Amino acid sequence: MSARILVVDDILANRRLMQAKLEAKYFSVLLAENGPQALEIARASAPEVILLDVMMPGMDGYEVCRQLKGSAETAHIPVVMLTALSETSDRVRGLDAGADDFLTKPIDDFALMSRLNALLRYNAVTTELRQREASGVKFGAFSEEENDTLNRDVNVLVVDTNPYNVKRLRQPIEEAGHRVFTLEEAEGLNKTGNERLDIVLLGLSNQGYDPLRLCAHLRTNDTTRALSIIVTVEERDQALAGRALELGASDIIQQPLAPEELLARIRTQTRRSRYVEILRARVDKGLELSVIDQLTGLYNRRYMNNQLTLWMKRAAMGGTPLSVVSVDIDHFKKVNDVHGHEAGDTVLQEFAERLMANVRPKDIVCRPGGEEFLVIMPETNGDLACSAAERIRRAIAAAPFDAGTRRSGELDVTVSAGVATFQGDEDTVADLLRRADDALYRAKTAGRNQVKSIAA
Ligand code: GH3
Ligand code: MG
Ligand code: MG
Repeated sequence: MSARILVVDDILANRRLMQAKLEAKYFSVLLAENGPQALEIARASAPEVILLDVMMPGMDGYEVCRQLKGSAETAHIPVVMLTALSETSDRVRGLDAGADDFLTKPIDDFALMSRLNALLRYNAVTTELRQREASGVKFGAFSEEENDTLNRDVNVLVVDTNPYNVKRLRQPIEEAGHRVFTLEEAEGLNKTGNERLDIVLLGLSNQGYDPLRLCAHLRTNDTTRALSIIVTVEERDQALAGRALELGASDIIQQPLAPEELLARIRTQTRRSRYVEILRARVDKGLELSVIDQLTGLYNRRYMNNQLTLWMKRAAMGGTPLSVVSVDIDHFKKVNDVHGHEAGDTVLQEFAERLMANVRPKDIVCRPGGEEFLVIMPETNGDLACSAAERIRRAIAAAPFDAGTRRSGELDVTVSAGVATFQGDEDTVADLLRRADDALYRAKTAGRNQVKSIAA
């Protein structure tokens, strides 16, 4: 499906012209002739990009942009300001209103398409992330941690063979409170690890290197892939700038550059890449939350079932053994009754640690619920699983637990365990778990603090 673009302009001829240009490139076009209409269409039709005229009677483009960016529903849609003015102060005003880019009228076709492609590429990343964002937290409400990410120092790498250019760039950027690095200075930054670069300012014109090659390299290299690349270019090198955009540059600034514009673009790019970073972290966290038990950090029931299905399939195909050990704390209810629920939680946590310390790395330790635990042991036959279970039992009984509260002090904890092994093709997850539970039940009725197995 081709991207939907909303064109906002008060003059009919301008709308028609833009529509024709875009439709020729197979974009689908929505039209609005004033600010309020633009806001309404943006909300209702969620276009991928908005091309927004600045000069309109009533609500002007700046105000429309501010409102778009101020609303959670539309804040993520990139806005390109279309201005007849080529004054730097107007561009900066647009970027300050939250615009992602601007183009000067008359609109150059090449510039228009390059910018649209760059924005759509960025969209593709954020859209996918937004869809995968499992937590359902609306973008706009930032956690403290996320605010730290947003407000982190901005580190700018300047790549330019002309020392005069470097000097000219360095001054305004540093004055704005950011940090500037040359390639040599950035070497050290990479090694320390927790510091990272945000933006590369790449000189395209009159360089001693092949700027396009470098641009492509930065985009495909793992450590620099996420960087925003802003290229600076002489006006006569438009074609070079277009190629750079195709190779993944995020933005272009034409020489001679005005410091305000440079800073506004750095601000926009930083906001954009940190937005992606935050979304990414939310997605990771969401995925993690959905498989990890929050009290103990072990895998939850959902993950346990997934892994069991997977490993049973592998065992069936590869003819390798597979065992599970169901582990249950003895008389755990008493721990809660005597020492309180909080002490009970602490015991569960320490129990989980000891469990983890006494299994092999490939074993999968889960807490399907309450004080029941299950260890999936891939490539392990019944005998081996029994001795592993016995090792776990001993590790728990060997030393008392610190219940964490002064009142409760130390307490003795024992466990019972049931072992079951995979029985081939016909076996199911439910059957395997039931056999482990049967074995566990036998260990309990036989007096607890012991291991039983159901022979394969
Ligand atoms: P058995 O030896 O037969 O296993 O006896 P038990 O007392 O351990 O077993 P029972 O199933 O009767 O009780 C389990 C208790 O575990 C009851 C419940 O309150 C407690 N429990 C379950 N989940 C948690 C938890 O997350 N934290 C705490 N503190 N207690 C929990
Ligand atoms: Mg129990
Ligand atoms: Mg129980």
